[in-house]
Amino acid sequence: MLGLEDLPAGSTISIGDYMFAALCWYKYGKTIKELVQQSAAGSPKASTQLLNLMRDYDRWRFGKPHRRQSGSKFDLNHHSLMTSGLDLGLDRLTADELADCFDELCSCGKEHSPENLRKLRERMIKALERIKTGAKANQEPPALETN
Ligand SMILES: [Zn+2]
Repeated sequence: MLGLEDLPAGSTISIGDYMFAALCWYKYGKTIKELVQQSAAGSPKASTQLLNLMRDYDRWRFGKPHRRQSGSKFDLNHHSLMTSGLDLGLDRLTADELADCFDELCSCGKEHSPENLRKLRERMIKALERIKTGAKANQEPPALETN
């Protein structure tokens, strides 16, 4: 997911890679791969987005306060909790259960809104579906059966 799906199974990704991919996905709703492809295909918009992304990434990397840390809706904690939680069954919880779960697991210290979390989950599930569909169209299906 997040455009890192080409990595061999079992690879670990660095927090830097994760952050870069997460920023890309959150900001533009596309994977790094899509963005790089669009930029390579000559889209001025994608090129600008790529540059913005690198700037944001550097801000994060060098520890400069990102404007998102001061009050905007984006919260990387929530993003990554949701990403790892979807596989674990977060997708089956009601909005209220989801908020309880985040109250339990998340260290942001803020109150978690069931409605906001439900929307975040919806966005992420859609994005994941799109990634899966795109991956199917572009690649040989992975061999799922082993004998
Ligand atoms: Zn939180």
